[in-house]
Amino acid sequence: MLKVDHLNVYYGVIHAIKNVSFEVNEGEIVALIGANGAGKTSIMHAISGLLKTSEGQISFLSEDITKMPAHKIIARQLAQVPEGRRIFSQLTVQDNLEMGAYLRTDNKIQEDLDKVYQRFPRLKERKGQLAGTLSGGEQQMLAMGRALMSKPKLLLLDEPSMGLSPILVNEIFKIIQEINKEDGVTVLLVEQNANKALSIANRAYVLETGNITISGDAKEVANNPKVREAYLG
Ligand code: ATP
Repeated sequence: MLKVDHLNVYYGVIHAIKNVSFEVNEGEIVALIGANGAGKTSIMHAISGLLKTSEGQISFLSEDITKMPAHKIIARQLAQVPEGRRIFSQLTVQDNLEMGAYLRTDNKIQEDLDKVYQRFPRLKERKGQLAGTLSGGEQQMLAMGRALMSKPKLLLLDEPSMGLSPILVNEIFKIIQEINKEDGVTVLLVEQNANKALSIANRAYVLETGNITISGDAKEVANNPKVREAYLG
């Protein structure tokens, strides 16, 4: 479904992403794990068109999206939930969700809004509340709900567990699994919380200073002694 081929990203003279290749197959949850500054966010932004790829190719559903602007990539049903959520804090919960559907022209938007409210009852209870006044966990739910409103085939999640309490992390990860299994959304998950990410992923890649150093079945990666030592404590 998604194929990243020899991706390189430079920030000036800094070579942040070095010849990274990986793929995500339809129906999978794939985890990309790595420490601070490993380059996880740079890869996500290169895929979603928010960052210019210096070299390499990215294709989605067999179409080359390497040079495509972000709004055209979203229209192809590839959505990103950015790190730090970036919700519209001055808008209500419902307005934020409706913004997620702004590129859609079909007539199923109301139906999907109801589905998002079913998936996230906390958002339903707070639909008239200003998004900026939501708790961190609720903002994460809103950012995911907003992305789901674009009806993605592939969802990129950048550190969904960041800043959340363990109970909320569990709740968010349960919802990611439901979105994958019940709604059929393929997921690329970037996480520092390697433990949680590997527990729900089918496959995983480990990123270290811009290179993929380990890859494989998520269970296999979780049992890798180097991964255990460096990421699973
Ligand atoms: P974190 O988990 O801390 O968010 P990350 O794995 O997502 O880290 P990136 O944000 O992709 O890592 O950063 C990868 C490297 O590129 C880092 O060394 C970072 O300092 C550098 N970098 C990122 N954005 C820029 C930029 N706009 N200008 C210069 N260097 C950058």
